[in-house]
Amino acid sequence: MKKWFAVIGDPIEHSKSPAMHNAWFEEMSIDATYIPIHVSSEQLESAVAGLKTLGASGWNVTIPHKTAIIPYLDELDELAQKMGAVNTVVRTTNGKLKGFNTDGVGFVRSLEEAVGSSHKDKPVLLVGAGGAARGIAFAMQQQGYNDLTITNRTVANAQAIVDEMGIGRAISLKEAEETLAEFSIIVQMTSAGLATGNFSMPFSLNRLEKGAIVADIVYNPLMTPFLQAAEEKGATIVTGLGMFVHQGAISFEHWLGNYPNTNSMIAQLKAQLGGN
Ligand code: NAP
Repeated sequence: MKKWFAVIGDPIEHSKSPAMHNAWFEEMSIDATYIPIHVSSEQLESAVAGLKTLGASGWNVTIPHKTAIIPYLDELDELAQKMGAVNTVVRTTNGKLKGFNTDGVGFVRSLEEAVGSSHKDKPVLLVGAGGAARGIAFAMQQQGYNDLTITNRTVANAQAIVDEMGIGRAISLKEAEETLAEFSIIVQMTSAGLATGNFSMPFSLNRLEKGAIVADIVYNPLMTPFLQAAEEKGATIVTGLGMFVHQGAISFEHWLGNYPNTNSMIAQLKAQLGGN
């Protein structure tokens, strides 16, 4: 029987996940389909029951349901439990719904694909303390990055993640700007300016070291002002597209057991987003 998968969120119409997963199904001759479903917060509980009854094999969860869905699931993977957020639901062979979070691991995979995995002992500055930042902080800790500093507009939110991780420290954006030269890897994870399309910088990169690695998890636009400024300073830059494709590929692997071709997907999406 044809398998089917979905992504639920609000809004959902701009999601690139359906096109990505359907392209992988076609490329790998898998008899399956993946659909976007608009689900409001009020509809979440009944939507999960509906997906279960109607036989979805699994689905992705996006804003604003990543935390709210947890009470409706039967089990959580260890990392999703720590993060308190789920972006992937798998229907297990015994019919249970198990939640995973592939965002953070997707980011680490994308980072290491771009710059290798020899930077684990270097000082990392994580900029932002929202849902995505939380996932990335826990995944970096799990993958062996042990010198983590989190900076955020609201320092208390950064401090809360540090307290839960049991390592690292939280600093203000001003302190981050002033001490920027101390960091080898900087990851921009805020949504500053996203709502208006008028992206702003969380702080200036004037003090950035030339050899630094700078990643942004925003991928539309591909070249954010943060990455542009970093490139002008001679840094190695990593766009957010790799994270998006790898988080989807890890979900795909949870559902179907195979890792799809991420290189050709990154190239296709890059062309669509105006990159070269
Ligand atoms: P979120 O939970 O709403 O968190 C937003 C973060 O941005 C918070 O740290 C917030 O600081 C900060 N912020 C917002 N406006 C700011 C401003 N004007 N100046 C400074 N800081 C500001 O959002 P999220 O889910 O973590 O997502 C963050 C970004 O990641 C979004 O742009 C999203 O598109 C992107 N993302 C990309 C991927 C991918 O696959 N590449 C995956 C997930 C998310 P406060 O705590 O002070 O409010």
